[in-house]
Amino acid sequence: MASVTLQGLTKVYPNGMEAVHQLDLSIEDGEFMVLVGPSGCGKTTALRMVAGLEDITAGKLVIGERIVNDVAPKDRDIAMVFQNYALYPHMTVGQNIGFALKLRKVPKAELDAKVKEAARILGLSEVLDRKPGQLSGGQRQRVAMGRAIVREPAVFLMDEPLSNLDAKLRVQMRAEVLKVQRRLGVATMYVTHDQTEAMTMGDRVAVISKGRLQQCDRPQALYDNPANVFVAAFIGSPAMNLYEGVGWSDNGSFEVRLGDQRLSVPPSLLSNRPALSAYHDRKVVVGLRPEHFSAEEPRPGAALSGEVELVEALGSELIVHFGFEGHQFVAEGAQELDSLSNGNGKPRAMAVARVDPRVLLREGERVTLAVDTASMQFFDPESGSSIRSAV
Ligand code: ATP
Repeated sequence: MASVTLQGLTKVYPNGMEAVHQLDLSIEDGEFMVLVGPSGCGKTTALRMVAGLEDITAGKLVIGERIVNDVAPKDRDIAMVFQNYALYPHMTVGQNIGFALKLRKVPKAELDAKVKEAARILGLSEVLDRKPGQLSGGQRQRVAMGRAIVREPAVFLMDEPLSNLDAKLRVQMRAEVLKVQRRLGVATMYVTHDQTEAMTMGDRVAVISKGRLQQCDRPQALYDNPANVFVAAFIGSPAMNLYEGVGWSDNGSFEVRLGDQRLSVPPSLLSNRPALSAYHDRKVVVGLRPEHFSAEEPRPGAALSGEVELVEALGSELIVHFGFEGHQFVAEGAQELDSLSNGNGKPRAMAVARVDPRVLLREGERVTLAVDTASMQFFDPESGSSIRSAV
């Protein structure tokens, strides 16, 4: 077993496309590291460089104690699980799982024992003699895992291994993949575009956009303290509400003005983010998670009012979409919103709130929801970075 270190790893394709830019990342022994980001952000390219399937343009790749930039894939002590499983259709499950060992000329008794053990771990013992065509999607995915397991690699590399499964099976297989990884304690690099998968599986999650690492941290830390607007908008569903407001500092207090409404920053939050006071009479981006709204009695400076446009009753919660006068902030790479004008020429912003399902709200009605102002996030509109201790 081993750790993996990427130092300034860069990939420029022959056509000049820089897919990965100076990526620094370390995966500890036994750690489950997820690389997540939108389509085309470079996560697969990063994984393929670690696998040795793609040349490294610049930077250093270390697996265990060795620099492996120029080591052939088969000698890197890694095993890869692909999205399409890449199973051999004419071989049985047992033959598929044992194939790499057969190539290595592992003695038959040892090979059989290892295949049996992998099949036992993965719940495939009953189907060892079947061909892949006679298996369910989840079983095929397990066979692909089995092939990786028997090689006893130092590192697992997984490229969207669950994306071909239906939603229910995907949730189930997430837990199974994790269980196997925990049991074997092998450092794992796992690529997905699905932020829920990333959050539920990763010990740590590396968020990538346009070939650059945005933030790498534990899932809860990413959620609670996103380093920039990209991470803020990408992690969480429904997404964080982001608005461009104007900061206003007065006698030691600070508020953000959104259209004709204002949100006061509690003193404790201001003392944690002293750099905020520099945004007096300046544009500032404020972020509110949907669950930081509530139907409690609103207090002045801690509420937003608007017109309800859509109510989604999910049983456990109510998702309320309401519009108000203000500027939505659209993080680069995030989805554009359509309705950005009020019809009366005033800019219109939308809020998505997650409230108690027993609250009675109807479309077209005016609503005032309380805001947990202590949980507000702030970002610089130019750099997109979170506003913390220093400007
Ligand atoms: P997806 O989730 O869609 O697979 P990704 O985040 O894994 O996306 P990559 O496949 O790593 O992204 O691609 C990163 C960028 O590099 C993309 O813009 C892609 O078009 C480009 N790219 C990938 N392979 C090549 C290649 N062989 N030559 C030139 N550009 C490439």
